[in-house]
Amino acid sequence: MIEICELCGTPVGAKHAHVADTGGRRLLCACRACFLAFTHDSRYRAVPERYLWDPGRPITGIDWELLDTPAASAFFLRRGFQVTGFYPSPAGATECLLSPGFWGRLTVRHPLVTAAEPDVEAILLHKTARGTDCFLVPIDMCYRLVGTVRRHWTGLDGGRRMRARVDELFAEIKGRARPV
Ligand SMILES: [Zn+2]
Ligand SMILES: [Zn+2]
Repeated sequence: MIEICELCGTPVGAKHAHVADTGGRRLLCACRACFLAFTHDSRYRAVPERYLWDPGRPITGIDWELLDTPAASAFFLRRGFQVTGFYPSPAGATECLLSPGFWGRLTVRHPLVTAAEPDVEAILLHKTARGTDCFLVPIDMCYRLVGTVRRHWTGLDGGRRMRARVDELFAEIKGRARPV
């Protein structure tokens, strides 16, 4: 399948940048020229390519429990003053209800979560045997995570193959992330 820039029609490679349509709330595939052109646009916003990680401040078990999600990962998007949480499921991105004060607590203890750009960056939490990591990622990475879980999900708990794919994705995120 040949992917094209959804703004100008130029063919793009498998690895390409994205632009968020903040009006229609969707992501558009973009060629390099369009990506750069929309870095400061108001309707179309280039999705930044930075990955940040705060290894010194892992999410506490209590904060994770408050989240009350069945998945091992969850991500948060900010639109204006509103924060919405999602977790990947076989049905796609599922919204998780945030208990009052959850986000406030998180911002006090984890300054990284306030650094995410509205609409185009997300805070991604990942629970592992060693603790829960907190990353700042471009939102297209969240779409990849959701797609990976949905595509490879088997049985009731997702299955070993799905978890292996998700682990690969988080290894990639960790490899790209700059510690803050
Ligand atoms: Zn283009
Ligand atoms: Zn794309």
